[in-house]
Amino acid sequence: MPDINYPIAGVIGQPITHSLSPLLHHYWLAKMNLFGRYEARDIAVDDINFFFDDLRQAEVGWVGCNVTLPHKIAALENCDSLSPTAKKIGAVNTITLRDKKLYGDNTDGFGFIKNLESWQDFRDSKKSCAVILGAGGAARGVIYGLQALGYQHIVVINRTLDKLQNLQKDFGVIIAGINDIKKYLDEANILVNATSLGLAGEDVPIDFKKLPKGILLHDIIYGATPTPFLKKGRQFGFATRDGLDMFIYQAVIGFKQWFHSDKNPPIDDELRQYLLSCR
Ligand code: NDP
Repeated sequence: MPDINYPIAGVIGQPITHSLSPLLHHYWLAKMNLFGRYEARDIAVDDINFFFDDLRQAEVGWVGCNVTLPHKIAALENCDSLSPTAKKIGAVNTITLRDKKLYGDNTDGFGFIKNLESWQDFRDSKKSCAVILGAGGAARGVIYGLQALGYQHIVVINRTLDKLQNLQKDFGVIIAGINDIKKYLDEANILVNATSLGLAGEDVPIDFKKLPKGILLHDIIYGATPTPFLKKGRQFGFATRDGLDMFIYQAVIGFKQWFHSDKNPPIDDELRQYLLSCR
């Protein structure tokens, strides 16, 4: 058996090769002079329960993992205990191993909140109503974050109705069709794209000419090239934000737990540039 006496964490998903999480965690480990390793593991849906059983039996050094698509619900079902946040969001993205038990948390909402709090345009705007496009797993973290920030009126628009109805039941949000969006946007200070439209350069079905003056445009997708949603938004003079800081902040809680750091890891432009240059 290898003699490993430093913590090992990782991210599981499929596909996983595109994940920036190993680069992010190794950047922080190096900057903070901490020992540890962080791996990306490609796990098929059929193998996911075996992975969690193995993790519970603690492969030497393993302390936990991040979980990404398509395993966030399976992670919820496999954990021995859950944080209140994971229960509310209905998915797990961060697992910590304690005494051969898996503790599941969801840090997407935390990442979204911290990211908004670090955005000057958001701090300067008056919170009113928020409109979200998309009702998938990420939208649940976004809604959780907005409600924690005090938003009373959150409107969610999505192509598929049953996901909207689940969000209405779980979070008490207003649900609407794309044709009704205008009346809600007029009341809103922020419009969030939480669909996957834009990942491959697709447009979001929004008429930018009809957006109210001063509304903030936030895409939770991130990459070296802005999505059409952000690109058009900037052309029309709106303040915009991508999802990079949400991604970075959601990683902080796991990093501190797994690698025994009392201090927050550094989040600055050097890190952002580094991650984008690797994207
Ligand atoms: P899901 O697959 O759970 O949800 C995808 C959403 O996009 C659904 O609402 C889906 O609608 C909608 N959608 C997809 N294709 C279309 C289309 N052609 N027309 C209209 N709507 C469409 O994914 P996630 O919620 O997990 O992720 C969504 C995005 O958020 C991804 O791009 C991901 O990269 C990003 N993300 C960013 C994070 C960050 O930290 N910055 C964290 C997590 C995700 P429908 O229900 O009708 O299928």
